[in-house]
Amino acid sequence: MSRDFEARLLPDLERIAAHFGTPFHIYDEAGILDTGERLKLAFSRVKGFREYFAVKALPNPRILQLMKVMGFGFDCASIPELMLARGQGARAGDIMFTSNNTSAAEFDEAIDGGGCILNLDDISLIDKVPEMPELVCFRLNPGPEVAGNKIIGEPEKAKFGLTVDQYVDAYRTARERGASRFGLHTMVVSNQRDYRHILDTTRRMLLWAGKLDDVLGIQPEFINIGGGFGIPYGPAETPLDIAALGEGVADAVDQFAARRGYRPKIYTESGRYITGPHGVLVTRAINRKETYRIYVGADACMSALMRPGMYPDTYHHISVPGRTPEDGVECVDVTGSLCENNDKFAVQRTLPRIEDGDLLVIHDTGAHGHSMGFTYNGRLRPKELLLRSTGSVEVIRRAETPDDYFATLQFDPWILSKA
Ligand SMILES: *Cc1c(COP(=O)(O)O)cnc(C)c1O
Repeated sequence: MSRDFEARLLPDLERIAAHFGTPFHIYDEAGILDTGERLKLAFSRVKGFREYFAVKALPNPRILQLMKVMGFGFDCASIPELMLARGQGARAGDIMFTSNNTSAAEFDEAIDGGGCILNLDDISLIDKVPEMPELVCFRLNPGPEVAGNKIIGEPEKAKFGLTVDQYVDAYRTARERGASRFGLHTMVVSNQRDYRHILDTTRRMLLWAGKLDDVLGIQPEFINIGGGFGIPYGPAETPLDIAALGEGVADAVDQFAARRGYRPKIYTESGRYITGPHGVLVTRAINRKETYRIYVGADACMSALMRPGMYPDTYHHISVPGRTPEDGVECVDVTGSLCENNDKFAVQRTLPRIEDGDLLVIHDTGAHGHSMGFTYNGRLRPKELLLRSTGSVEVIRRAETPDDYFATLQFDPWILSKA
């Protein structure tokens, strides 16, 4: 959570919480726009640079509208995500469709539903594309050549992409099937804050692109260096040096162009970097118990924020507006209400002493927060709010109700008799 967002939100937080009711995620329009502009500025020396916002990070139409305003495209991986992008008026060139284990229905929607830049995950999918589009991209998994990180794991154990030994064949085959324009994609890290790692991968991608030219005479039009740009979740973590990354990529492309006489465009597909720091989950403390540990029970649970329960060692900073450490601190677990012991927002965290009724602000939930939520245990997902640049607050998704939970139980009788 940026200091600016804190300064915009905290003075009004109690009034917002009283008006809309807790829990909710609230996003900072000014912060999202500022980060988007900074990304563009960092890559301004890279000709044809474009960000394709990873829709799964924050799949809300009101947020996607901001991406559209900034000139971003959309990275989609499912039919509903394609529908969301097209709902913003996105046309074929504005959508990267990066699916994994793609189904026939997904290919139909991706191609016949309005077109997209098809990013194929494997050579075996070439024959399954109903009609080979003119422009095709492959997702390359560099395997042991590149170190991964905790969230995605080592590349050679990751399910994504095809190998360095396979990709030349993949482009050859796609060309035989009718493709005439090409891109190259990789994404091997998640939440990476060291720009040198991303830059190193970009340089390797340029080498792989060069090999396509050497062997097949194919010059990829673009190189999509993926998402995975990290944000600081912990107060001691340093931010990604996006300016250094942009400069480094610009230099690498310049050198490539000087050697090879053409210049591929660079695309990114960040999610977390754009919206992660610009959202928080606001929840109220409703219970407190002292057993073997002290537990502070919040009125939100994993249905609103899965990350701490899903990825070990995930940290989300928590602040308690209005309480200072001078009032006393204690070490607590902050929990939700699910019958699942992983349902904790913080484990053995030192926080100011929290009383029932206090608001808790769980930081950096603007990406892979609400969207990862689920309804296990009949726990419903909360509303999403937007703190507009003007200072007003808008509901951009209502909270789920039991009717939503029961909606899939409304259907016509459908029985297959015994043969
Ligand atoms: C999830 C995903 C992204 C976005 O990841 P962030 O960590 O949010 O930047 C980008 N591209 C692909 C293919 C993804 O699966």
